[in-house]
Amino acid sequence: MPLKVYNTMSSEEEEFKPIHGNRVNMFVCGPTVYDLTHIGHARTYIAYDIMARYLRYKGYSLFYLMNITDVDDKIINRAKERNLNPVELAEQYTAEFYKDMASLRINSVNLFAKASEYIAEIIAQVNTLLEKGYAYVVDGDVYYDMSKFPEYGRLSRQKPDELKKHRIEPDPRKRNPNDFSLWKSQKLGELAWDSPWGKGRPGWHIEDTAITYTHFGPRYDIHGGAVELVFPHHEAEIAQAEAATGQKPLVKYWIHTGILNVKGQKMSKSLGNFITIKDALRRYDPDVLRLFFASSHYRSPIDFSEENLRSSKELLDKLYATYDKVQTLLERGEDATTVREGQSSPIVSEHKERFIKAMDDDFNTPAAIAALVSLTKEVEKYILSGFNEKTLREILETLKQMGSILGIFEGREGKKTSRDISTELINLIVEIRDEARKKDDWKTSDRIRDRLRKIGVVLEDTAEGTKWRA
Ligand SMILES: [Zn+2]
Repeated sequence: MPLKVYNTMSSEEEEFKPIHGNRVNMFVCGPTVYDLTHIGHARTYIAYDIMARYLRYKGYSLFYLMNITDVDDKIINRAKERNLNPVELAEQYTAEFYKDMASLRINSVNLFAKASEYIAEIIAQVNTLLEKGYAYVVDGDVYYDMSKFPEYGRLSRQKPDELKKHRIEPDPRKRNPNDFSLWKSQKLGELAWDSPWGKGRPGWHIEDTAITYTHFGPRYDIHGGAVELVFPHHEAEIAQAEAATGQKPLVKYWIHTGILNVKGQKMSKSLGNFITIKDALRRYDPDVLRLFFASSHYRSPIDFSEENLRSSKELLDKLYATYDKVQTLLERGEDATTVREGQSSPIVSEHKERFIKAMDDDFNTPAAIAALVSLTKEVEKYILSGFNEKTLREILETLKQMGSILGIFEGREGKKTSRDISTELINLIVEIRDEARKKDDWKTSDRIRDRLRKIGVVLEDTAEGTKWRA
């Protein structure tokens, strides 16, 4: 079954065919590290993490690259406010970002590329744009000349004369109002690198195209990011890269994630509804957050509310219950002999197919979750009707597989089953009784033996110590 993905460029679902056979190169816009990452980032990065996991599950050899904007106005301004060195501020928040990604089990990224480590590549790309006549220098600043790239606006479906204005940059030295910065000259005391145009630092858009050109060359398969980045950021990337390399399209599939609201409102610090990933993780298990985000399609808007998270938690508890039950039955082993051997269940393959079909349909995670839920319900019925080990193994494997695509159940592996806990508790009680016996405290020793017998645990004092059976 072919995978279909929605391409923002064509506004259509297209069959997914990588440029180079089985190799998939994917780039996703990373954070600007001037503050803690928030649940909007969590939504975006969990969505691409699931896509990456699925592409690998399908057998693609995926290289997932993410940039980290560690050179930017926001970082410089925040550092000034706090009287800190901008490099240290960026390093601190980069470290926090890595921690947040690990806590959310976002582990599919092959390489995080920091803009500050690609200054030479950025300068080379700006130079190429100047040589080809797509850029111009004014007093140490370099701008992209929008009039030279008439295709600008295609991704965001805007005609050149209807283009929304870029973030206000009242600079009378620009040739066209939409010309954007490729290189910014150093202002007093600012962080800067040497360049052919004097000391300065890169503009925001150029870091992505310099980084992707370095690792992927002039064209690659998937570019992701939140939908807010389509204009001007991704438009600018197309203009820079296609002009610099002369090859197009820069990206075969543009994939964008939808917006996140908090109780129906846009999240912002001024509204007091700004939730960091750390805040969210203090209240919810990573699996709850992952299931919650995956319960909406990645392109749909999503509403982060207590109520919605509670229902994700309830759903997850039900999924865990079935998963743990299957695992416990398999661990017990002895029960397998009592069942109707040879009885195989078609429920597994049927649900697996449904799950894959949903994921193949533009990563339709809500439909995939519905298949998973339906499977667990069928499994509950199956267990009640009698079961065999072979099918139980098949069920557990399938649950694990579906879980590993969504990134849930992963903490379940080492989780103690109630049976493990009972065993350890009895061992502990027997140890305490042994200590009592050593002190000739027969009263306590007998009391423990009698009470255990009442719950069906029989103790046997032997020369090698006390043994027990249940
Ligand atoms: Zn970007």
